[in-house]
Amino acid sequence: MEACIFCKIMRGEIPAATVHEDDEAIVFLDINQAIKAHLLIVPRVHAAQWHELDDGTMAHVARLTAQWAPAVVAAVDADGYNLLLNNGEAAGQEVMHVHFHLIPRKRGDGVRMAGVKPRLADAEELRGTASVIKAAQRARE
Ligand code: 5GP
Ligand code: ZN
Repeated sequence: MEACIFCKIMRGEIPAATVHEDDEAIVFLDINQAIKAHLLIVPRVHAAQWHELDDGTMAHVARLTAQWAPAVVAAVDADGYNLLLNNGEAAGQEVMHVHFHLIPRKRGDGVRMAGVKPRLADAEELRGTASVIKAAQRARE
């Protein structure tokens, strides 16, 4: 895609600090580091959202998150990591080319991944919501 910033990075038109490249994906540092060593894992195919990817690309990108997470954690002596994938503007997606964020985390680092305070729901409500989701899935099949 001509104007897409991640496609431009993959074409070499914009520089990036890359740690891995292969035929299907690229892994580079996010220009805005939520915490040091914050990586982006990006498939070469230009698709906006996760569910639009074919199974092989999905598997490859998911495998890369698992392959690079231990190195990222070791590199900055972290205690854990977040995998984050924003889908759609309402979910905070700014670059409309699907990508995982791999963000190392340290105890007490103060990084907040979401400002939402979850609400404890009762069993009846949860059963009702599960039915609605399953009906939506059946309608897609
Ligand atoms: P999103 O909000 O879409 O999940 O995340 C997009 C990410 O892409 C942001 O964290 C942003 O910092 C990063 N980003 C945007 N432009 C560039 C760029 O030119 N180079 C790099 N390395 N990262 C970028
Ligand atoms: Zn793109």
